[in-house]
Formats: sequence, structure tokens, C-alpha cells
Amino acid sequence: MTRRKIWNFLLLFLLCVPILSAQVTSPEEFLGFTVGAEKKLADMIQIVEYFQLLDEQSDRILVQEVGKTTEGNPFIVAIITSEKNQKDLEKYREYQNLLADPRKISEEEAQTMIADGKAIVMVNCSIHASEIGASQMSLELAYDLATKNDPTTREILDNVILLLTPMHNPDGIQMVAEWYRKYLGTKYEGGRMPWLYQKYVGHDNNRDWYMFTQKETQLTLEVHNAWHPQVIVDMHQMGSRGARLFVPPYVDPYEPNIDPILRQEVAMMGTFIATELTAQGKGGVAHSIGFDAWTPARAYHHYHGGIRILTEAASVQVATPITIREEDLSSSAREESVSMPLPWTGGKWSLRDIVEYDYAAAKAALTNAARLRENWLQNFYTIHKKAVTRSEPPYAFIVPAHQRDLSTAVKMLNVLRLGKVEIHRASDSFLVEGHEYPAGSYIIYIAQPYGGFAKTLLERQVYPEIRETPGGPLKTPYDVVGHTLPLLMGVDVVQAEKPFQVEAMLLDKIDAPRGKCNAVESAYGYAWGHATNDDIVALNRLAAKGHSIFWTAEKFQANGKTYDEGTMIVQNREGLLDDIQSIVQELWVCFDGLWADPKVKTYILKEPRVGLYKSWTASMDEGWTRWVLEQYEIPHMSVFDEEIRKGNLNDIFDVIIIPDLGENAIIKGVPETAIPSEYAGGIGEVGLQNLIDFVKNGGTVITLNGGADFAIKHFHLGVENGVRGLNRREFFIPGSILEVLNDNSHPIAYGFERGTALFYRTSPAFVAHEGHCVVKYPTETLLSGWSTGDQHLIDKAAIVDVPFGKGKVILIGFPVVYRGQSHGTFRYLFNAIYYGSAKLAE
Ligand SMILES: [Zn+2]
Repeated sequence: MTRRKIWNFLLLFLLCVPILSAQVTSPEEFLGFTVGAEKKLADMIQIVEYFQLLDEQSDRILVQEVGKTTEGNPFIVAIITSEKNQKDLEKYREYQNLLADPRKISEEEAQTMIADGKAIVMVNCSIHASEIGASQMSLELAYDLATKNDPTTREILDNVILLLTPMHNPDGIQMVAEWYRKYLGTKYEGGRMPWLYQKYVGHDNNRDWYMFTQKETQLTLEVHNAWHPQVIVDMHQMGSRGARLFVPPYVDPYEPNIDPILRQEVAMMGTFIATELTAQGKGGVAHSIGFDAWTPARAYHHYHGGIRILTEAASVQVATPITIREEDLSSSAREESVSMPLPWTGGKWSLRDIVEYDYAAAKAALTNAARLRENWLQNFYTIHKKAVTRSEPPYAFIVPAHQRDLSTAVKMLNVLRLGKVEIHRASDSFLVEGHEYPAGSYIIYIAQPYGGFAKTLLERQVYPEIRETPGGPLKTPYDVVGHTLPLLMGVDVVQAEKPFQVEAMLLDKIDAPRGKCNAVESAYGYAWGHATNDDIVALNRLAAKGHSIFWTAEKFQANGKTYDEGTMIVQNREGLLDDIQSIVQELWVCFDGLWADPKVKTYILKEPRVGLYKSWTASMDEGWTRWVLEQYEIPHMSVFDEEIRKGNLNDIFDVIIIPDLGENAIIKGVPETAIPSEYAGGIGEVGLQNLIDFVKNGGTVITLNGGADFAIKHFHLGVENGVRGLNRREFFIPGSILEVLNDNSHPIAYGFERGTALFYRTSPAFVAHEGHCVVKYPTETLLSGWSTGDQHLIDKAAIVDVPFGKGKVILIGFPVVYRGQSHGTFRYLFNAIYYGSAKLAE
């Protein structure tokens, strides 16, 4: 380049800089209204387009599409920092990776990175899509950070890298915006949608932070694991009558594996935000109320070096403002207190107010992270240094190679791997506390960066006894209490307290195990087990191909061994062996050739015609059930109120599943005053009679958890819910893992061991005067979590099979597919479905 050209280039550059920054389009210019304006919403498409525009127009903003959501929409994150830092993103990301794993760096290197690094802040907006304020706010926050040059903005941009997720649930934002606009100006304005705002799990999308079942969780994890943020702000909304904004500190208890440094940081950041808002005159900001920090289902970050700052703004009717008189606020929101020194005094409350509170909270978090940048980095490093040098027991967890359901054990290990847990595999057999474990067993050492995450999920929970007042009643937990994955998933795991010697390799990946087929020439058929979820997938695949399949109802001898009742047999025919071979390539299923018909009593199976009841009172249990049925390839259709009201259900279905819904939600549904008429009214008395006729004519109804109350009452079953009517002080189990005993002679318990762990959450427990109790509670039942009054469960049933006319009603009295986590109990549902559509042959 000649000198003149260089000068021209520089001149052009200097001229362009102010023009470019002046050319950043504001949200108002883009949308045609102010962010948070009354009755106006930016939808998912507009938000994505606006961020793409910012990416083009501002050197401070880099927008990445991390992947596609459940419904195939773009899931974006905006990386916002100074122009200078943008050029060094990879360097700062590498610092984070190394500070998170102090085994890889010297103390001196760590100090250099702490001095030179940036604090990483992640702001996640509106995972609960109807809590839409934060997603709107994100436009304004990004624009201001792209354009402002005041000292605070500069301080933030220079010291912080912000990972802004403008929509933590993009699919839901679009649904909520479209529904809101459609009914604007009608009597349904600002009302609820009749479906979930995430295709499968709705509101539970924020309870997926250790199981990682849903796409949006997995995509967030990619960002989180790439950047290891120190501060994560999750922006929600709550009811309308309480405080205007909740921020931490949380109330007790904290889950015990969360580092104390982190807990103090939560308190420090929370009260900093509260102070800033109060200083701006924003009343009604409260901390230390309601929300605890027990379940890891909401707080992946707390095990990965980052604090979770939950904010909960008071809601409006989506974008329609509300007016609340001071006297209508809850008493805790009216009175000044140590956790809320400046109450809000009532009046009009609008989406714009939420936007402004959320904006101020996000800005305060960024300011704190910028000002205390070195403290955040130093503490982040210290937390991980403690983790990798940990010496107190346990030393490790062992997942022995011999598993009843190895495929599910591998799924559990891969869940841990998604959470960045290192897993080793023993090259040789080894001894631990007198027991020998075979080569191929998996080992999870606790002294590793995220050892605390592994420990939390692998050990049994003991919830602390906290009294509401000294000597008073026990304080009940805010959320579920038990999360022991080996129990939930039916995986054998051993906790090793002391160090042991073994040669073991760190694994890059863990492949799903494959099955095998012991073929015989001119076989009568092939037998396989019933003990794993893969066994059922094999059944689904073979049934879909039209093969003749049955379950044996008795034990039998063949190939020199005893096959249990419930053994599955597929009869030989042209093409079967090819179908089996393709199954064993993918699934951990072992087929044995049989020379001859075992000549025992059998259930003849068919591909079941399954209807899953989908109420317009959107049900997360329905969504989770649908998700699990899809994952395990069980054919099914949704069945709506209208179809049940139409009748002739036996022509369409063999089995109808009623998820966890109350009788009113099923029969009466949502009234027409609250929802447009096409969604109102439930199945009605007509639908109820049609369901009764369906079972009388040979159909099967399966109810899940609380759905049993509907069937017991309206089918007049000789079954009672034996814990109904007990108050919370007498009996309360809000989400714990319990032991139950199976009657393995019954098809619903085929393939189970005698004892099984199930998840119990404010569930029924049956006293059956008719039918067959398949699963019962023993004398000692609590395995993990918390319970009050579990003696009320003794000898009551968890699953009952009640004959009704030519059909049956199967009551499964607990969350059998609990949040996609309870792999150990999925088969109760799968078995019930096949059993419900099978015929007993002599
Ligand atoms: Zn929420």
C-alpha cells in the first residue's frame, strides 16, 4: 500500500467509526414501538432479526446460532464486549477453560490469567415464555451496550464478556406472542394458552439442568461449557401480588455440595442488585424469600463454578398492564423488612415496568462483575482448585461392568459427561474395600473439577430438618428433594470411601453397548429378556414389522437354562433374522434361538393402539409422557376432548393413558369464560360415559399419578386412595425416591427385580378391595430425599390392575416417567401398555 492509500484508508476508517456507531438501529426504530410498550410484543422472529442486525451493525456484538430448538427455530446467543475484547475472544475463553481446571496450569500462570482475563456473565431471558418481559428487555440491553459510551458502559465492556441469551425458549416466545396478538381486544386478552410453551415439557424446561433431556438445555450447556461463566442471571416472573422483583440470597437449604464461596457470592451479587435498584428508587425489591437452592435441576451453574442469580419480576397479563391497590398486595410485599426495606406502594404495573426492573438488574450484575472482575476470577479459580485437590471421602464412585441394564448405565454416564464429569474405565479387575470389580468397570473420581456435580447426582440425599420456628413444625421444601440418578435410573453404583489402586483410562466417549444373537438353524423362534428398556425398544421394532410376539406367563427351560416369566419370544419367519441383526447392532439386547415352542401359558402381543389424553389444561405430565414414548419408540397418538366426546373409542384405541390431571381438568376442562370455546369444556359427562364404555368393551385405561383419583371416583372402582385427606403435617413427600416391592408374576412387573426405586411426589397410595396389587410399599421405604409420615404408605399399593367389564383400569400411582429421569420405572408404563392390549392364550 502506498502512503497515500494508507492515509485514505485511515481517513475513511476515522470517518466511518462515528457514522457506523450512529447507524446502529434502535429497538424502537426496528419494532415501531418502545420495548415493553402497552399491549406490544416483539416475537421470536423479530428478536432474532434484530440481533442479526446488531451483529452486522456493531463491532461489540457477535451473534451466534448455537443450534436449532425443539421446533427447529434458531437458538441464538449474543456475545457482547468491547471492540478490543471481541478480537481476543478465543484467548479469554481459553483462560476460562484453564482456570476451571487448575491441574493444567501453574499458580503463576493462573495469576497472570486472573490479572488479564475477563469476567464472564451469562444472562438467560424468559425460559418460561409467558414470563416474557426479559426477552423484550434483552433488545434494549444489547442496543445500549452497542451504542453507549458512558463510564459504566465502558467499564462493563472492557471487563466483562456478556453471553446474552435473548430467548431461553424461542419456540415458546413465538407461541406466546402469537396467542397474545390473536386474542388482543377480546375477553381472552392476556389469558393462558391451551398448550405447553415448550413442545414436551412446558414449565419444567427449567427443571432439566442435570438430566439435559431437551434441546434448549443441551444448547445452553454448549455455551456454558465453552465459556464457564462466573455469573448466570436467569430472568423469570412470578405472581402479581408479591414483591416487584425477587433477587437472591436464597433461603436455606443449599444443596451441601455447593461450594461455600459460591454461596457467599450469590448473597453478595443478589444484595448488590437489590441495592442498585433501591438506589434508583425502584420499590419492592426483595431478597431472602421463598426460593431455596436445593435441587440441582434448576442450578447446573452451582456445580460448575458459577453463581445462579434467579430474578423473579411481578407479572402482568403478558403485555396488558394491571393495577394493584396497596391493600391488595400480599402482606410480606406491603411491609418493609430486612429483606425489602423499600416496599412498592401499589398502582399501575406494566410490561414496561418489568423491562425496566429486569434491565436494571442485568446492568447491576454486569457492573458488579466488571468492578470486581479479579475477585470473580480468583474465586472461580479457588473453587476449582479446592475441587481438584479434595481429599475428604468419598474417594470415587464405581459403576461395575456387570449391570442389569448396561445400556441405561451408559446413558447415566453420558449424562455426567455432558456435565463435564471425567469418567475412567478400569483396564483390569480391582479390589475396593474387600470387593472385586471386573475390568471394564467405570470409575468416577471425586477429586476433579466437577466432582461435586457427580457426587450430588450419585449419592443419596438427606434433606436437613429446618423448623419454621424454634421447636415448631418442619419447613417443607420448595421443590423436589431427591435426585439420586442410580436409583432413578436403576443403575448399580458403589460409593468408595477410601482410595484404591487400579489401572484405568480416561474415556473420550462412551458408546452404547451392542447386543448379540445366538442364532440356531431352523429355529422355532427367538427369546429375549424383559429386564431393560432396550428390550422393550426391540419389542416395539419387531411388533411394528408385524412379527408374532408373545410374553411367556410362566418360567421355562431351554438351551440349558431357565427363562423367567415375561420372557419375550418372536416366532421365526422369513426376514426375522435380518430384523434381529439390525436391532443388535444398535441395542443391548441378547436374542437366544429356541429349537421348539416352550409350550407354556403366554400373552399374545400386538402393536398397541395407544391414545395419550391431551387436555386443553396443558399438562406437563402429558408432555413428558409423550416425550418418553417417542424416545422409546412406543407408537401413540394424542387424543383430545372432542374425540373422547365423539365416542367409538374401541375402534381407534386399545389403550388410553390419562396423565396426572385432576377430575375437574378432565371432565369440566377450562371454562369458556377463560378460554375460546373450541378449547373449553373438557370431556364432559358424555366423554366420561364413552371412556367407561371403552373399558367395558375391552379397552384399557391407564392413569398416571394423581389421574387415579378421576378413575377411582368415576369408574366406581373398589380402590381407595389411602393417603387422601391426610394433612401435610401427617403425611408429605414432595419428591423423594422410595423403595417398592413387585409381584413379578404380574405382567406389569415382568422383568423387574423384587425391589425397585420409584419417584414419589404428592402421589396417591392405594388400598384395593378389588383387582391385583402389582407393586406395594414395604415397611421401610425412603431411599433418598425427605418424608413425613411414610408409615402411612406401608402395605398400600403403588400400582393396581382392576378388571372392569371386558377391559381393565390400571392405576399407576406415582410419576412413572418423572421428568424423563426415572428410567428405572419406565417399563411399568411400557408393560402396562402391552399388557393392556394383549390377549392371554392357553
Ligand atoms: Zn419462571
